[in-house]
Amino acid sequence: MENQRRIFIKKAGIIGAAIAFSPNVLLSATAPKKEKLGVALVGLGYYSTDLLAPALQLTKNCELKGIVTGSPEKIPIWQEKYGIEDKNVYNYGNFDSISNNPDIDVIYVVLPPSMHAEYTIRAANTGKHVWCEKPMAPSVAECEAMIKACDDNKVKLAIGYRCQHDPNIQAYMNVAKERPFGKVKMVTSAAGYFDGRTNHWKQNKALGGGAMGDMGVYALQGARLATGEEPNSVMAQASTTRPEIYHEVEETMMFQLEFPSGARASCQTSFGINMNHLQVNYEKGWLKMEPHSSYNGNNGSMSDSTIINFPIENQQAKQMDEDAWAIMNQESLLVPGEEGLRDIRVVEAIYKSANQNCAVKI
Ligand code: NAD
Repeated sequence: MENQRRIFIKKAGIIGAAIAFSPNVLLSATAPKKEKLGVALVGLGYYSTDLLAPALQLTKNCELKGIVTGSPEKIPIWQEKYGIEDKNVYNYGNFDSISNNPDIDVIYVVLPPSMHAEYTIRAANTGKHVWCEKPMAPSVAECEAMIKACDDNKVKLAIGYRCQHDPNIQAYMNVAKERPFGKVKMVTSAAGYFDGRTNHWKQNKALGGGAMGDMGVYALQGARLATGEEPNSVMAQASTTRPEIYHEVEETMMFQLEFPSGARASCQTSFGINMNHLQVNYEKGWLKMEPHSSYNGNNGSMSDSTIINFPIENQQAKQMDEDAWAIMNQESLLVPGEEGLRDIRVVEAIYKSANQNCAVKI
């Protein structure tokens, strides 16, 4: 890997910009006021339990200080494992009193998507900064209300797009900026996995389920970030092979995007198919990533033999450290609410196209 890394760095000076964004480089520039921001996780399901809480044991700029849960049986387990004090334990009813708790600086909403807007707005109203998981919310209107609530309360809003903090993804974002292979002609991206569950929020429309909002945003981000453009038109097709499970929401969504430059993208997402890749065809070359949106190991190559394979210790820790650093230093967030909204604008158009079976302008 070290050899590959050397080849990569030698060949692609442009991508050095990705490394320059490392929090350690930035941290040395300014002394933060509070050594570590206190984070409260709202919703203690899979992602909080398996990924975020462990990552918060590795972070330098923030730490796990509080939990908000509707499941009392989880409280002693989390308190024992992470040393969370009684005064930092909340339920959905008394959540708003977190406003008086100086231990908590950031509230991280890790609930089903239909609950993101309500809890982000309630969190903003407590005066705490907000991190919210993807997809930002099921509708553009909710995303706009979330951004407004954070602006009105003068708190920051970050969306949990961990991949944008990954130098391997930043590598192809930089290719979009520097254009060493000319214009983008075609992007092909796919994000999906086989979900064997039958009665989860991912299969429930009212809770914000469906493959498109869940894995689909990774396929969409691949197209948006690889072109560096916003699509102006979409055509989409929803389908299912398991109608007994996927009768409210789509199991699979295929969507084709057109961009102002003339670039096109063909994207797929699914809860029935394992897929995780990106290919970009430029005027004079190509870039491939596989995996493209994993928690670790994202890697790829380019037509000029450049290898993209940056080691990354922990993607979620890097994401939260960079977001905490930005808050402490009053800098711009890498993935603010506006970026989550850009995706949801396209997601809304994708659903409209699939429902009406026609191209939709964005
Ligand atoms: P999960 O089902 O495992 O956990 C959801 C949590 O919400 C549970 O603790 C559950 O008790 C709680 N909850 C509260 N009210 C609920 C209700 N009415 N119905 C269902 N659950 C309710 O889900 P998850 O996989 O942890 O996903 C949570 C969020 O994190 C989602 O927005 C998801 O898209 C996001 N996520 C992001 C990543 C990523 O890589 N960034 C990965 C996984 C999940």
